[in-house]
Amino acid sequence: MSRATIIDGKAIAETLRREVAAGVSDLKRAHGIVPGLAVVLVGGDPASQVYVRTKSKATTDAGMLSFEHKLPAETAEPALLALIAELNGRKDVHGILVQLPLPKHIDARHVIEAIDPAKDVDGFHPTNVGRLASGAHALAPCTPSGCVILAKSVRNDLAGLEAVIIGRSNVVGKPMAQLLLAENCTVTIAHSRTRDLASVVRRADLVVAAVGRPEMVRGSWIKPGAIVIDVGIQRIVSADGKSHLVGDVAFDEAAQVAGAITPVPGGVGPMTVACLLRNTLQAANAIARA
Ligand code: NAP
Repeated sequence: MSRATIIDGKAIAETLRREVAAGVSDLKRAHGIVPGLAVVLVGGDPASQVYVRTKSKATTDAGMLSFEHKLPAETAEPALLALIAELNGRKDVHGILVQLPLPKHIDARHVIEAIDPAKDVDGFHPTNVGRLASGAHALAPCTPSGCVILAKSVRNDLAGLEAVIIGRSNVVGKPMAQLLLAENCTVTIAHSRTRDLASVVRRADLVVAAVGRPEMVRGSWIKPGAIVIDVGIQRIVSADGKSHLVGDVAFDEAAQVAGAITPVPGGVGPMTVACLLRNTLQAANAIARA
């Protein structure tokens, strides 16, 4: 039996998706604008194909238009940049997402920087990264935005909390730090060179684990009562030969000590898609106001 509150990311994401759908109806009624999201996939990576399908379905379920662009793996960088330029200019496209990772011969940085920052619903363009860091209005990355909503579902005011983020990627760790700073947390970012990670994590009232190492964070690392948000998701095969998904946190151990914890699956994952829809609506609303 776990002590911790299990944070139901699926239910919280469902509520957010309903709110977005209501916002989409309002925008249609007030301005005749239907938000449109273009998702670009280069190559046939099976996991990426699943993500793109999930995103497209969620987009149409929310009443938005979905435009899927599937390009062959051998697509040259200039051809991809030409597609981005076309999407930047289209009035029916308010959000552009290029599914990562891209094939090795394409420089993801060039592609991200080619997206109009106003349509950058992933929040990876340097303009949005800079706006987020300087406290200005920005399209913020989806996964860390979802983590903030999950943490606030158990404690509305995060101000003053010691937050430890494990992982410093541009996709999760760094923007997570900016978002938690904006919530007035005292933020530490840990990474592979951090000394004595366990004792750093033990200080935290809020832990966000975004590492990609199955069950690395042990229950003994968790401060009693802490909020634990597990971003990691990995498929492992257990001793009985069955495969299942696990996070970066040893869930059963941590749930004995934490005040609240997200499960894997059903925690952060569903929030990422819901926040993508929210960003697309935000981008369309900004265009309507312009
Ligand atoms: P990433 O780019 O590989 O970054 C991993 C980070 O973890 C790096 O900063 C790395 O440190 C750090 N790290 C690696 N080993 C460590 C160790 N032993 N101790 C402390 N830190 C360590 O990964 P990511 O894109 O941020 O993703 C992290 C995880 O989240 C993955 O499992 C991914 O699948 C998952 N994810 C889930 C969602 C979702 O929607 N649920 C979205 C995005 C990512 P260095 O910088 O020093 O190398």
